[in-house]
Amino acid sequence: MAILTSRPRGTNDFLPGETARWQYLERTLLQTAELYGFKEIRTPTFEHTELFQRGVGDTTDVVSKEMYTFLDKGDRSITLRPEGTAGLARAAIENGLLGEALPLKLSYAIDCFRYEKSQKGRFRQFHQFGVECYGADLPVTDAEIISLAFDCLKTLGLSGLTLAINSIGCPTCRANYYKALKDCFESRRGELCETCQTRLDKNPMRILDCKSPVCQKIAAEAPQVTDYLCPDCRAHFEELQRLLTSAGIPYTIDPGIVRGLDYYTRTVFEISVPDFPALCGGGRYGGLVKELGGPDVEGIGFAMGLERLLMVMKEQNCPVPEEQSCDLYIASMGKAASEQAFRMVSALRAEGFSAQCDLVGRSVKAQMKYANKLGAKYSMVLGDNELSEGRAALKAMATGTQQEMTIGEGFAEAFSDVMMNGYVLAAADAAAEFGSQK
Ligand code: AMP
Repeated sequence: MAILTSRPRGTNDFLPGETARWQYLERTLLQTAELYGFKEIRTPTFEHTELFQRGVGDTTDVVSKEMYTFLDKGDRSITLRPEGTAGLARAAIENGLLGEALPLKLSYAIDCFRYEKSQKGRFRQFHQFGVECYGADLPVTDAEIISLAFDCLKTLGLSGLTLAINSIGCPTCRANYYKALKDCFESRRGELCETCQTRLDKNPMRILDCKSPVCQKIAAEAPQVTDYLCPDCRAHFEELQRLLTSAGIPYTIDPGIVRGLDYYTRTVFEISVPDFPALCGGGRYGGLVKELGGPDVEGIGFAMGLERLLMVMKEQNCPVPEEQSCDLYIASMGKAASEQAFRMVSALRAEGFSAQCDLVGRSVKAQMKYANKLGAKYSMVLGDNELSEGRAALKAMATGTQQEMTIGEGFAEAFSDVMMNGYVLAAADAAAEFGSQK
């Protein structure tokens, strides 16, 4: 393998043409979250390893198997973030954001790193958009977060969305549930995979999330967490269901959803589309902020994988705005004309147009070929004649129609008129045609 010219496995190059989709996606998601009052935060790509061990939980697959961890030159253990929630909680605590007016609402669009087997929709460097809301415990918060996740996906034009919710309770009710799980799994310990045998002692609920078919089969017969909820957790879950129903958000209850990260309490949810389970996943976390040394505030959030989102958008033919192409290419012949072209493109850019001129000293024919390849809407050729007359022909590339324009002062405004009223050229043509018919 040519190491210098191949990217590491599980990573992607996003080429010009694709990046416009990414910009649109991130902008749309962040703006939708802003309607709910979420403000974007940007945190470091790497954090101290302990943050994820403590925050996400070292019995999770993400932490125990998938982290990119290394010692830096100062012998500190550093990890490339595998998810966003722990880093955001750390930043909120460190910057004193949780001491201000609550709830605190944060959004993020980040890259994440997990050493996973790369396959369709699963990468080692991938991107997530997500939100976190701290300091709001009422079930209406859970409903609002779910409603935002739905809005995000609907705004992008996705259809066929299904929402599945569950409650995994609080530490009080979970103690009873863990006992029931242990009783159930203990008799079949030998059949579980090696990792799940360790999980059985440390965190039996993780077994429900195991990808091994044998463990999944055993897990299907395990007791369900919703049967072990304490009265408070049950009331919270029932209120959430009432709110979702009254907001017209359809859902199903899926006791199998436990989510892959340790910090969740009470509400957990996943939004899927056919062929893409868990396109978006999220839930409430009671102990995370306190565990990391912050105040005792609850958080709730979700994350959606952007690569998968783009794949589904392509599959469903969701509309994406086209990227801005070159509005005007000015070809030139000779030094004086090329200086004039340079001045004109500068003036056009100042007016917000995308304009280009020759940078390599090619023939006019070659310059026009390049303008074609760029997909320029208009082109213009400047030579000695044009300079001495102060006028040049503006050509619409799609139709070949031309219009004489003054090229000195005021050109950018005149071009702006042409761009805004595309019919200027068409009208001139129509007049010419009308004249020729007479
Ligand atoms: P999680 O943080 O595991 O709850 O994942 C949140 C979302 O991130 C998932 O619903 C996926 O859409 C996405 N995701 C997780 N892992 C990967 C990965 N390795 N490659 C691409 N997307 C991922």
